[in-house]
Amino acid sequence: MSWEENVKKVVPYVPGEQPKTKVIKLNTNENPYPPSDKVKHALEHFDIDSLRLYPDVNGGELRTKLSEVYSVDEEKIFVGVGSDDVLAVAFLTFFAGKKPILFPDITYSFYDVWADLYDIPYEMIPLDDDFRIKKEDYFRPNGGIVIPNPNAPTGVEKSIEALEEIVSKNKDSVVIIDEAYVDFGAKSMLPLIDKYDNLLVVQTFSKSRCMAGVRIGMAFGNPKLINYMNDVKFSINSYTMNRLTVAAGVAMLEDSAYFEEMTNRVIATRERTKVALRELGFEFPDSKSNFIFARHKQVAAKEIFEAAKKNGIFMRWWGKPRIDNYLRISIGTDEQMDEMIAFLKEYLK
Ligand SMILES: *Cc1c(COP(=O)(O)O)cnc(C)c1O
Repeated sequence: MSWEENVKKVVPYVPGEQPKTKVIKLNTNENPYPPSDKVKHALEHFDIDSLRLYPDVNGGELRTKLSEVYSVDEEKIFVGVGSDDVLAVAFLTFFAGKKPILFPDITYSFYDVWADLYDIPYEMIPLDDDFRIKKEDYFRPNGGIVIPNPNAPTGVEKSIEALEEIVSKNKDSVVIIDEAYVDFGAKSMLPLIDKYDNLLVVQTFSKSRCMAGVRIGMAFGNPKLINYMNDVKFSINSYTMNRLTVAAGVAMLEDSAYFEEMTNRVIATRERTKVALRELGFEFPDSKSNFIFARHKQVAAKEIFEAAKKNGIFMRWWGKPRIDNYLRISIGTDEQMDEMIAFLKEYLK
């Protein structure tokens, strides 16, 4: 059709499947545990009349609560509809130069999608054979850098000393550290935002805070970075954080004991799962996230992926170069992992 000439054509990000039937869902890194009861209470007592009014453009009480819990001034916090929203705004805001931005070749598969969508030139920097980031690769001219820590889908943590070197050697560009999984045992760069005005730290409620369905993400950085992001955001949609989301997010932040308990549970389950997978002939880089990126020494990942799916166990598999023999298995409850291990034992026999 002739109007198609004027259409923006992109290859979209493909999210993991959300099956309608009841399965053991280990394919999109959601938390297996529900939000705190405080969230339930907050929504049950929510002031429905208030929905008549537009919400606060900066996330209102959610940003205030984040400021309290993370000990960061409000003016250094940006909130969005999941970290995908925060990252999309950050790409649009900070990666407007002519030089290519840099990110690993094996990483969150949304980065190249946004770069293509916003016409940002980019270079994917190969991880080494053990899926590690080499900091020296990032000591070269660039228009910006984005690195998840721990990386996804590998689960590998990079030391904050090495990341700090990347930030300090790239003062002319913004470095985004995507800490979607940091609460599962990695170190955060958050304490460094006052030291480096080119550092933006992005986190989310979707994984460690049990609320992927609510859609809350946040960025921490110096006020100048945050103001630039707001200018872009206010040019698209000012009211991204709705009042129900804010109420749920505040309530979740009020229960730090629950947050710590659930995070520790996931970590404990991950560690036992590592042992069980190794016994079954899997190998994997050490994970500091809520998933394990594993391959079997004899059996192809695709075969295991398909057989597991037939048995109601969903994992993630990408038929992409370098990682087509790997499965990403999210950490569920102990019971779910036991069922998954039992299936693998039987299947691999
Ligand atoms: C899950 C994930 C996100 C986005 O999660 P939201 O649900 O949009 O907050 C961002 N980055 C990485 C690396 C992720 O794995």
